Amino acid sequence: MTGDGTRVVRAGLPEPAAHEPALPGPVFAAHFHLPGEAAGPYTYGRDNNPTWTRLEAAIGELESPGEPAHTVAFASGMAAITAVLFSQLRAGDAVVLPGDGYQLLPALRTRLESYGIEVRTARLSTDDRASTSAPHTPVDRAHDARPDVLDGARLLWIETPSNPGLDVYDIRRLADAAHARGALVAVDNTLATPLGQRPLDLGADFSVASGTKALTGHGDVLMGYVSTRDPALADGVRLWRKTVGAIPGPMESWLAHRSLATLALRVRQQAEGAMALATALADRPEVTGVRHPGLPSDPSHALAVRQMRPGRFGCVVSFVLPDRAHAERFLTALTLVDDATSFGGVRSTAERRARWGGDDVPEGFIRFSVGVEDPEDLVADVLRALDAAKA
Ligand SMILES: *Cc1c(COP(=O)(O)O)cnc(C)c1O
Repeated sequence: MTGDGTRVVRAGLPEPAAHEPALPGPVFAAHFHLPGEAAGPYTYGRDNNPTWTRLEAAIGELESPGEPAHTVAFASGMAAITAVLFSQLRAGDAVVLPGDGYQLLPALRTRLESYGIEVRTARLSTDDRASTSAPHTPVDRAHDARPDVLDGARLLWIETPSNPGLDVYDIRRLADAAHARGALVAVDNTLATPLGQRPLDLGADFSVASGTKALTGHGDVLMGYVSTRDPALADGVRLWRKTVGAIPGPMESWLAHRSLATLALRVRQQAEGAMALATALADRPEVTGVRHPGLPSDPSHALAVRQMRPGRFGCVVSFVLPDRAHAERFLTALTLVDDATSFGGVRSTAERRARWGGDDVPEGFIRFSVGVEDPEDLVADVLRALDAAKA
């Protein structure tokens, strides 16, 4: 099997053909010529598109290099997440969602409950996680650490490393526990990307991600996908996409595929920068709660080393400044870092997460996404902005 850097540049490409481009351009078609029977790979543009086919093949090769997987691309990460939830869950089912996950999980919870689905919020902690010293508390403590939280559940949702808390959860262990009770397991693989971690190899039934972040990495595309090795599960997800029409555009799909070629380069450079930044931050007295799975002192480090690919702990570093005003002064003083949400892009971004109100984080909590800048320049800019913010 080739290395990831080799795999990404050819993933999903057709066999080379004389006078044809390596990656054929986007196919813009609402419908395809369809003489006679209503069958064939391409019929109507909401059902399928050759540009999706190539992108999906590429992502499948990255999520599951050793075994065939089915990948379904979506218009956004949320479209992919909801496709798994709503293709699998029925009224009367129970689902376990993480207490510290993507900020829209509480909204999803409300919607699922309105459809008669029981939602249990689990911390998935104390023994399933390297430590409990996260700087935030669960969205809902009601079902906190319930030992039977998986009993009778249809689906367990895991987000690891979690966003924005950066806790790492043991996919293999949680998947074994869920499967023993007949529950399916989905992992949100957005932060790690398939180059940082392969949930399907670790026992998950679904690997789901927002391709908007590090996967495409340029901050110019919204995209999502679901990968699974089970054809029946893939069929359900595909039928959901067709039914609700949450399809990616051909142009976005093509841009996403084009971006994959540099994924290994970006992941490596961003991980290196994130380590340099986290290390520098750990030395600053005004900075507390530095989290990055690659930091040897991080509570999640031991598990991250076991579960994630070597040196690929992601581009996100989180930390806490004394208060809101201090954090705002810091963000304003940065010159190489944009104050923006999202993460995973080639240009560094940072934000005061509490400005959204959705995450349970302190007012001075910063989520920092490291781009592909030279780490020494980035660290110098951050240290200078920290000095400026002290005033
Ligand atoms: C951004 C994000 C999503 C949602 O993805 P969109 O492409 O914005 O719809 C889901 N999960 C995680 C962990 C994310 O960071």
